[in-house]
Order: sequence, then C-alpha cells, then structure tokens
Amino acid sequence: MNECLFCKIAAGEIPSKKVYEDDRIFAFEDINPQAPTHVLLIPKKHFVNLHDGAGDPALMGEILARSAAIARELGIEEYRLVANSGSEAGQAVFHLHFHVLGGRRMRWPPG
Ligand code: AMP
Ligand code: ZN
Repeated sequence: MNECLFCKIAAGEIPSKKVYEDDRIFAFEDINPQAPTHVLLIPKKHFVNLHDGAGDPALMGEILARSAAIARELGIEEYRLVANSGSEAGQAVFHLHFHVLGGRRMRWPPG
C-alpha cells in the first residue's frame, strides 16, 4: 500500500494540485486532463476499485455528493463522473478514484 501513487498523493508525499481535502476525501487536478476541468476524487483510505469501495457505502455517497459540490465550485454545472473499475474498464491506477470531467460537450458511448 505504501507504494500506491494515490496513497502518497493523499498523504502529501507526492505533490499534486489540491482542489479539496477533508479527513476522508482528497481531490486534485488530473495530471493529463481530458477536459477543461478534470479533477480526481479519492478516498484517503486505500480501496483497489469500486467492488472494494462498495464495502463502505457511506463513504461512496460522500464522494458522490462532494463531486457535485466541487463541480459547482469550479463553475461546471454539467459534468461527467467516471470510475474505471478494473483494467478492462480502463483503470490504470489501482486506488479507487472518480474522475470529474467538465467544460466541454461529452460524447456517448465512451470509448
Ligand atoms: P484511470 O485510468 O481511471 O486509472 O485514471 C488514472 C488517472 O490518473 C489518469 O487520468 C492519469 O492522468 C491520472 N494520474 C496519474 N498520475 C497522476 C499524478 N501524479 N497526478 C495526477 N493525476 C495522475
Ligand atoms: Zn492507495
């Protein structure tokens, strides 16, 4: 777990552009933004993916609500919330995270 990139970001051991922090949640700008606004929300506690995080539904709900608050604070009323869960789904960092994407028109279906 101490080798986990997002655990280190949440702990401040690796620098990030912080957007929000409380005792359970950390949010920061994605290093390779896919939209004018691209923020990652993570639980500070290490969960591998959504199946893992689903064991703490209250925290998942907090993250959902916080994504909306952050989007509004950043001036995006309309946005997409994405969690890639598993490599087949596009997950590359195996610490559960939620992408907040906004500021442009989104396409559907996703690739
Ligand atoms: P995923 O493909 O869903 O696992 O998303 C991982 C995301 O983490 C990608 O959008 C990357 O651009 C982003 N990322 C990787 N390393 C960093 C980093 N050091 N700081 C911020 N974002 C990162
Ligand atoms: Zn981690």
